[in-house]
Amino acid sequence: MSRGESTWRTHALEATGFMPADEGDALHQAALAAAAALPGLPLLEVGSYCGRSTVWLAAAARQANTVVFAVDHHRGSEENQAGWEHHDASLVDPRISRMDTLPVFRQTLYDAGLESYAIAIVGQSPTIAAHWRTPLAMLFIDGGHGEEPARLDYEGWTPHVAVGGTLAIHDVFPDPADGGRPPYEQIFLPALNSGRFSLRGTVGSLRVLQRVD
Ligand code: SAH
Ligand code: MG
Repeated sequence: MSRGESTWRTHALEATGFMPADEGDALHQAALAAAAALPGLPLLEVGSYCGRSTVWLAAAARQANTVVFAVDHHRGSEENQAGWEHHDASLVDPRISRMDTLPVFRQTLYDAGLESYAIAIVGQSPTIAAHWRTPLAMLFIDGGHGEEPARLDYEGWTPHVAVGGTLAIHDVFPDPADGGRPPYEQIFLPALNSGRFSLRGTVGSLRVLQRVD
C-alpha cells in the first residue's frame, strides 16, 4: 500500500457513516475493476450521507481516471431522523430543525484529498435518475431503505448501468433477523430475476453484480 493510499483509507475509516471497512475495501476493488472494464464511464452512488462510502469510490475513481457522482438530498433517510435508531443529533441544521449532511460530506472528501473525484448531486434520487443520460461503469445503491425508495432506486437507476458494468447494493439481508428487507426484496432479487445481472461477490451485506445483458 502506497503512502497516499493509506492516507485516504484512514480518512474513510475515520469518516462518519455506516460502511464497514471490509465492505468498503470490497467496494473499492469492485469500482477499480468496473472502471478498468469500461474506460471513460463514471461511477455513481445513491446515498452518500457524510461521504464515508464515497471516499472508497472516489479513491478508485482517481486511480482509474474517472469520477463518482454522489447522489443524496442530504436530509437523511427515515431511519436517520430524530427518534430512530440511526439518528445523529449533531447533523441537524438548527435553523430549520432538519438534517443536513452536505457540509460534513464536503469536509470528508476535502480531508481525504478527493474533492475533485466526487461530484455531489443534491436532490431526490428518483428525480435525478429521471434526467440521467450517461451510462455508468458502476452503480452503488445505498439510499433510502424503505420499500418505496428502494423500488424507485432499482427502477430509476439500474437501466443506466452499462452492459459489462457493475451494480453494488448495500444492506442486503436475506434473513429478516439481520436487518430490513427492502434492499434485498426491492433491489437485489429484482436485479437477479431480471436476467440482466449476475452475482459476482458478497462481503457482509454488500452484493456485487455485473450487468450481463
Ligand atoms: N453510504 C453511506 C450511508 C448512506 S445512508 C455511508 O457509507 O455511510 C442513506 C442516505 O440516503 C442518507 O444520507 C439519505 O439522505 C439518502 N437518501 C435517502 N432517500 C433518498 C432519496 N430519495 N433521494 C436522495 N437521497 C436519499
Ligand atoms: Mg448502507
